[in-house]
Order: sequence, then structure tokens, then C-alpha cells
Amino acid sequence: MSKGFLLVLSGPSGSGKGTVSEALMKENDEIIYSTSITTRTPRPNEVDGENYFFRTIDEFETMVKNDELLEHAFVHTNYYGTPKEFVFNEIDKGEIVLLEIDVQGALQIKEKYKEAVFIFLLPPTMDELKSRIVKRGTESEEDINTRFSNAFKELDFVGEYDYFVVNAEVSQAVEDIENIIAAEKLRVKRHKDIKEKVMGKEKLN
Ligand code: 5GP
Repeated sequence: MSKGFLLVLSGPSGSGKGTVSEALMKENDEIIYSTSITTRTPRPNEVDGENYFFRTIDEFETMVKNDELLEHAFVHTNYYGTPKEFVFNEIDKGEIVLLEIDVQGALQIKEKYKEAVFIFLLPPTMDELKSRIVKRGTESEEDINTRFSNAFKELDFVGEYDYFVVNAEVSQAVEDIENIIAAEKLRVKRHKDIKEKVMGKEKLN
């Protein structure tokens, strides 16, 4: 059986990571979303335990101290991190675990987990990116500017990723990611018993 693996999806704020991930998971039961922990204030329709585990800075620091996070980073103006135990349990079960995280977190994962797959989601243009952040209407003007200037910095890291996907049409972006997953599942390094499987009960004398 193919082992589970980490699928890391990054991209600047407004690239549509949330929308693309949601559509991807709707069509693919085998992909499990890793809900992150954050110290950010919830947006109006966000639910604790669903979009994020919303925690205080003290609680977050305790988790870091107890080594409960796979990676963590200070993004824009808040802390974000990935719960370690959940991710490992799912991978052991053979699942593909989707981490929607920033470039700092992705680089930490890259150092530690060689078998993870890294995808960078791009907007069609930076003008489109800004208009998406403004249209979302959930951030203050100051926050919009921070996110937009961080977007330029994050683009410098695209070379660290295995694949890029342009999110002009959500359905096309989802299809591109599905194709990446299909190819990744066929990587020889993810299978230890290819020869045995083909041989079946046949044995050469
Ligand atoms: P937002 O506040 O818009 O939900 O997320 C802001 C940024 O934090 C996004 O780039 C998002 O991918 C990133 N992020 C969310 N969860 C995590 C996490 O667990 N770790 C890291 N490193 N970044 C995260």
C-alpha cells in the first residue's frame, strides 16, 4: 500500500488557498485537512476547531514548549502552527494530509520531512491578488497592506517548491493538484513492494 504523505499548499494571502483546498477536499475523501492553531482573532463566520483552533499567545507558547507542533511561524501579525500528533496519526493510516501554511512553515517541513510534496498557489496577477484581499472585506486597511507586501516577499520562495499551480479558475487549480497527487502516488520511493505485488504467487525457480 502507498504510504500517506504531507501535501503542503502555500501561496500569498488572496491566492485562494482556502477556496481551492475546500473544493479539493470535497472531491477527494482521501485528503485530510490539518486544522492549524492560531493566535489570530476569528473572522465573523469562522468556527473554533473547524477553520482553526483559536488559542491565546500563552497557550500557543506552551504548545511550542511541549514540542506539540510540527512547525510554527509568525505570519503577518499572529502565530500559526501545525499540530504534530494529528498529522502523524493520519499519515500512519495512509492518508494524504493537507497543510495550508505559509512559506516559513513550509521550509521547516522541507528540512524535516523529505517525502512531503510542496505546491505553491499563484494568483493570475498581483492586481487580481490585491482586489481579492480587498473584496474579502475581512481585514483592516493596515492588514491589507501588510498582506500585500508580504505577498511579494513570499513569491521569492516559489523556487523552494516542487510544483506551482495558477489559480485563475478554481476547478482548473483543483484538477492540477489532483494530477500532482496522482503522479506523486506513483513515485517508486513511496512503494516498498512493487516487485512482490507484480510477482504475486509466481516464483522463479
Ligand atoms: P489567515 O490569517 O489568512 O487565515 O492565514 C494567514 C497565513 O497563515 C496564510 O498564509 C496561511 O497559509 C498561514 N497559515 C495558516 N495556518 C498555518 C500554520 O499552521 N503554519 C504556518 N506556518 N502558517 C499557517
